[in-house]
Amino acid sequence: MFVLNAGNARELQFVEGDITKIAVDAIVNAANAQLAGGGGVDGAIHSAGGPEIMVELAAIRQRIGTCPTGSAVATTAGLLPARFVFHAVGPIYRDGRGGEPALLESCYRVCLDMAAERRLESISFPSISTGVYGYPLAEAAAIAIHTVLGWLHGHGDSVRVVKLVQFGAGDHRAYCRLARESGSAYTGAPSS
Ligand code: ADP
Repeated sequence: MFVLNAGNARELQFVEGDITKIAVDAIVNAANAQLAGGGGVDGAIHSAGGPEIMVELAAIRQRIGTCPTGSAVATTAGLLPARFVFHAVGPIYRDGRGGEPALLESCYRVCLDMAAERRLESISFPSISTGVYGYPLAEAAAIAIHTVLGWLHGHGDSVRVVKLVQFGAGDHRAYCRLARESGSAYTGAPSS
């Protein structure tokens, strides 16, 4: 694990592993707009969390239809070691000029805001959009790191620990490399 100090006793942690096995207050899922379940991290979350999560999503679907890209909905976490799952819809990557960076950034901000609204202390994110949605890993990782650090510095809320979880050693190395580069600009910054 690699840790960036975000000031004011807040940490951005980089963890390699299966997000369904890591205890936090809220686990973020990389969902699709239909909230219908899929493969990748979404499949792992539903199979480890049990059917209750999908039942809640069906009720949300009835109410709102689809979840817009860049946004998220909350459910309880079923059997997962968490209180909530935030189902965020990342952008499908085409050429990067269709608003993908802003939409990906929005996923991280919206979920952090949702954690703060619920006065949660810890939240974990998978590498949203970098699986079947095809977002280049280094670009997505840079957005994730900058968005989370910027948010932590701009908020005096309950959120103390943010875990960016990478599934596989290659992804983990890439995130840590970027974190080392971008971290220096933030380490020791005045607390908000
Ligand atoms: P998307 O459709 O947003 O691209 P994917 O689930 O296909 O979502 O992939 C997003 C990321 O989640 C990928 O980097 C993938 O390696 C990772 N991933 C898959 N399973 C897990 C898991 N159990 N824990 C953490 N990350 C996972």
